Amino acid sequence: MVNKEKVKEAITMLLEAIGEDPTREGLLETPDRISRMYEEIFGGMDMDAHEILSKRFSVADSEMVVERDITFYSMCEHHLLPFYGKAHVAYVPNDEVVGLSKLARTVEVYAKRPQLQERMTNQIADAIMQELNPKGVMVMIEAEHMCMTMRGVKKPGSSTVTVATRGNFADNEKLQSTFYGRVRNFRL
Ligand code: ZN
Repeated sequence: MVNKEKVKEAITMLLEAIGEDPTREGLLETPDRISRMYEEIFGGMDMDAHEILSKRFSVADSEMVVERDITFYSMCEHHLLPFYGKAHVAYVPNDEVVGLSKLARTVEVYAKRPQLQERMTNQIADAIMQELNPKGVMVMIEAEHMCMTMRGVKKPGSSTVTVATRGNFADNEKLQSTFYGRVRNFRL
């Protein structure tokens, strides 16, 4: 749970530390506003992906399921600046699947916390692997990092791509290229 009073104190101190006057009109409500905002953007810390993925149902076939273009917003834990983009999640069921919205919610659980893109990619893949026990999982995340674009090397438009493969995706290039094909080319 976000300690809103502590966030408010911290933001007031932060404003003072950069030489601002936290009592001027425009900044007066800022600590409170940020404390409420943090409840939302760090809300994933109170959520459990395993619980979200616990409601499963049986299927007879085992075709690859791909949920792509899942928009997410996260906060880079090194700079507390946003990184955001699309996650693509695929798995080959063993005999159980989950509702498609649960894959998007799993992405959200791991996005809404101080995060690293690489770790988030792995956490999503591992949660699905553990809960659904599928034949394999593949997760790809494409994101733009504000800490790359508004500071430091300043490369707007550059994106970071991370991939995690588990189970039969790990050593099966054909499955991987099917995944890439569905994510990249197949547009409704
Ligand atoms: Zn960063």
